[in-house]
Amino acid sequence: ERSLQDLYTWGVPHVNGGLGRITEGLMTKGDGTYVEYADGKRMMDFTCGIGVTNLGHAHPRVSGAAAEQCMKLVHSQCSIALHEPYLRLIEALLPIMPHSSLDSFFFWNSGSEAVEMAIKMARLFTKKQNIICMGGGYHGRTYGAMAVTKSKTIYSEGTGPLMPGVFSIPYPYWHQCGLPQSTPTSEISSFCLERLSLLLSQQTSPSDTAAIIIEPVLGEGGYVPAPTEFLQGLRNVCDEHNILLIIDEVQSGMGRTGDYWAVKESGVKPDILLTAKGLGNGFPISGIITRKELSDRLKKGSMGGTYAGNAVSCAAATEVLKVFQDDRVLDNVKAREKELFGALNALKQDAEVGKFIWDVRGKGLMVGLEFLSGNGAPKSMAKRVAEKCIEKGMLILTTSVFEVIRFIPPCNVSKADLEKGCRIFEEAVREVVK
Ligand code: PMP
Repeated sequence: ERSLQDLYTWGVPHVNGGLGRITEGLMTKGDGTYVEYADGKRMMDFTCGIGVTNLGHAHPRVSGAAAEQCMKLVHSQCSIALHEPYLRLIEALLPIMPHSSLDSFFFWNSGSEAVEMAIKMARLFTKKQNIICMGGGYHGRTYGAMAVTKSKTIYSEGTGPLMPGVFSIPYPYWHQCGLPQSTPTSEISSFCLERLSLLLSQQTSPSDTAAIIIEPVLGEGGYVPAPTEFLQGLRNVCDEHNILLIIDEVQSGMGRTGDYWAVKESGVKPDILLTAKGLGNGFPISGIITRKELSDRLKKGSMGGTYAGNAVSCAAATEVLKVFQDDRVLDNVKAREKELFGALNALKQDAEVGKFIWDVRGKGLMVGLEFLSGNGAPKSMAKRVAEKCIEKGMLILTTSVFEVIRFIPPCNVSKADLEKGCRIFEEAVREVVK
């Protein structure tokens, strides 16, 4: 058998070249906020595997529930027979839905698959075709999801033609709107809603428009929460024209923002709610949640997938929800949110480096820090700061095309680890501007 080092050297050239990576080496272990590599290097993880391990790596209760289910039933194929974990997961999710109308559940494996199904269902439910998405939004890399992804060209470059019938308006983020950063959120919201109104009168008639898809907190596109008045405005337009509102909480959901759902605060009712990532804490599972009254109209056999609603993933996800409740994890998110904003805003006020920090924003533990671009700021500052953090032992990510660092520590991160992460980040920023 090859040694780990030999395996790595031999195996990497056989890995598909399209897969990018921010670190070298094999990750061999994860516990809580930390991961280890084959060479013994231990790193703090402020990426959570891109917003997935919200309860930390290898959470004993989640892994335990999965192991127990593994010994009972791994796979039934839900078109052959349902299993207990599927219904237990519905039992756990139903009481925490952002709106009581959401009472019909389909489980799949990934966020992209959830987006595909939402598009398909929206077309079937409304008997209309077109989809409106947001400039800057990210929804995945399968064909339908790529078509509604507008955060970076690399995701779909050279792969067209994509799914037709897709239109976009800017996400309410000043870069997307070409507005000054100082623009009040109410003005940004009105600007984007005006663009929607124009789109519906100039490019895609409401009678051809099936759905609007939006992330309530823009994820890959820059970590920007959508203003409440914008989400409410979208809801009104949808109600007026029989358009469905698809709320993609693949990244923002499952406790990340201090509530189970980022959309909750706005009071806006999703017609279709999407969840994935944190739902399984690393076990592949996504949820497409809608109203029974709509999904009952689907023909039997029109939806399905070999691994849709896998028993082990459902058991893990049910345990994730129990841990959130038993350990009062949402309270932790709110407490740590204050400390994180405190630390980052203090850095923004700092005499030496503050002038390079343009904005600190977000909700809960989904926080974006944007560096100044140009105007004397170091070139590619976000990327360089992230690389420095990695050198110093902390995994952290940037976002799409703007100079944004995203903070996504585990939702149950300790006060001490959060402080440590903020210290590493501060050192990295100081070294990059030197
Ligand atoms: N929607 C959003 C908001 C996401 O952040 C992502 C993944 N980053 C996806 C969809 C796609 O999910 P997946 O990578 O599991 O296919």
